[in-house]
Amino acid sequence: MESNEIRIIYGKDAAAMTTKLIESIPLEDMIGDRSTQVVIKPNLVVPAKPESGATTHMGIISALIEYLQDHGFGNITIAEGSWVGSNTEDAFRLNGYYKIRDKYGVKLVDTKKDRFRKLTYDGLTMEVSETMLNAGFFINLPVLKGHCQTLMTCCLKNMKGCLSDRSKRDFHRWGLMQPIAALNMLVKPSLHIIDSISGDLDFEEGGNPVETDRMMIGTDPVLLDAYGASLMGFSPEEVEYIPIAESYGRGSMDIESAKITELNKPEAGSIRPTGAVSRLASHTAPDMACSACYASLIHALKRLEENGGMRKLGNMKIACGQGWKGKTMEIGSGVCCSGAKHSVKGCPPSAADILAMLERL
Ligand code: SF4
Repeated sequence: MESNEIRIIYGKDAAAMTTKLIESIPLEDMIGDRSTQVVIKPNLVVPAKPESGATTHMGIISALIEYLQDHGFGNITIAEGSWVGSNTEDAFRLNGYYKIRDKYGVKLVDTKKDRFRKLTYDGLTMEVSETMLNAGFFINLPVLKGHCQTLMTCCLKNMKGCLSDRSKRDFHRWGLMQPIAALNMLVKPSLHIIDSISGDLDFEEGGNPVETDRMMIGTDPVLLDAYGASLMGFSPEEVEYIPIAESYGRGSMDIESAKITELNKPEAGSIRPTGAVSRLASHTAPDMACSACYASLIHALKRLEENGGMRKLGNMKIACGQGWKGKTMEIGSGVCCSGAKHSVKGCPPSAADILAMLERL
């Protein structure tokens, strides 16, 4: 897979979607040597279920291990460390990681209890997990979701789980942005498989999941994060650690030149907004909307709200979904709503494009 590639798959079955993504590369050729130590790093920031919008879906882990073992890779480790104040083992227990360890005979490491190596990049010294540093092939499994301090979190920020708690505290003292970029010059996963099935609207610890039903795979974390930012209605420059990581040479933010391939198309399904998402949903008129399309609209509305632009919508609702095909309306999102007076193309459109349309109203 080339560094400027992103492959996307839509659906609800995390295991089946993962298998299709890694078979499309194919992963066995990327790793090569069957004796390679493969380290898998999910996002277990807190002890919470994936459905909350905080953590990686378990189907991704099991599908990945089954694929690796079926193709002769026997040296597999799952490693992660929750944020300061949370116990990683609680997160392992809640999500069934001990059962996965015993079922497949893989290693499971709480990086909080790991040995650490002190490494420095751009004047910042941090303690990085030996397990992560010794990986022969490192697979990052972040969740694309909102973040209260950095706006969003995906590939680059998920690397914080490789640090000691002491270094995690230092990162907050240093302002997060530059340290996140610097960390990614010290720990460099070979592959990123993004869980964008139900990532949280605005907080890394979950509570307001946005049904998105999408996963992505790629090798450039800067490109993937830049793309993820656009899906959430941000420009890559707004998420400060992304351009810093690009300036360090970790990757490219150039989404325009990226080769983006969809392995399938999203399908219409029932939308069940909960929590804060329901409030934003009151400004929408979904009719047979695909989850990824509707999620883009929700993220765009969230950005519009943050920018103080909700008042201009008044009582208007934004149409979204296949049920609007061939109809006329005031505002619509996605090619199904091309009959709208104000519309944005895309199937599905990005939140950044929807936001730009809404801001022009
Ligand atoms: S434009 Fe229509 S078909 Fe395409 S993702 Fe949106 S709702 Fe689905």
